Amino acid sequence: MPKKDSSLKKVKETTPESAPAVKPAEKPAAAPHGLWVKCKPCEHIIYTKELIANAKICPKCGYYFRMTARERISLLTEPESFKEYDVEMKSVNRLNFPDYTKRYEGARKKMSMNECLVSGEAMLGEHKIVICVLDFDFMGGSMGSVCGEKITRAVEKAIKKECPVIIVSASGGARMQEGIFSLMQMAKTSAALAELSKAGLPFISIMVDPTTGGVTASFAMLGDINMAEPKALIGFAGPRVIEQTIREKLPAGFQLSEFVQNHGMIDIIVTRKEMKSTLNKLLTFLDYTKAANK
Ligand SMILES: [Zn+2]
Repeated sequence: MPKKDSSLKKVKETTPESAPAVKPAEKPAAAPHGLWVKCKPCEHIIYTKELIANAKICPKCGYYFRMTARERISLLTEPESFKEYDVEMKSVNRLNFPDYTKRYEGARKKMSMNECLVSGEAMLGEHKIVICVLDFDFMGGSMGSVCGEKITRAVEKAIKKECPVIIVSASGGARMQEGIFSLMQMAKTSAALAELSKAGLPFISIMVDPTTGGVTASFAMLGDINMAEPKALIGFAGPRVIEQTIREKLPAGFQLSEFVQNHGMIDIIVTRKEMKSTLNKLLTFLDYTKAANK
């Protein structure tokens, strides 16, 4: 029998930032981190190692499996260059929302991280960047006060260090368990990005499947360049809610990246494998160093 697959672990090991925020869970999770994984659309059975080596894209039908925040950082930045910010910052249940603490602690344990967002600085080609990545598997990538604060701090660091900012979003929106504290993050992150813009530094927003709610309605749509992965769901409210509200059938492909791009909400759709080289070219083209030194 082949050795138990540790491919996901390997991704973590090769990620230099992986000083874990919390102790890793004792046992590795079973599915979907098993030896084999089934592709939803084409039902092809894929060897997990092969899937990871292929940037988590189904080799048969091209379906994009979801990436963790750390896998995404590995994909987009130079090896060993990532330095994480605010690793220890944790959420509190300020409103005593029922079950929030339990769910949050469960997510922390399962994901071996303190929040749904990983932020830090890294190299991308020759560019020093500040990067934030949302992890949908941590409570739906929902933006609570820690997520908003981490983004704001990261942007402030970028201004200080004269670096461009890249944020990869995958989120169900604001974290309802934090009520108004969560909604406030929309204004806070937007204000921080306005300061970045004043400093003449670029912000590239990357939207992956799914980017919705308060995240779309704040920082995710504020990029100097708004980029998306193919066929990602991007919107504010979900299609079912919209259909019920306007009582009309929605067109095919509604809210997928291609549709959203055709309606002027995003600038470019970039495949996962071309994402890093495209970012590198864009950052070179934007020539932000001159702007920052003005
Ligand atoms: Zn497939």
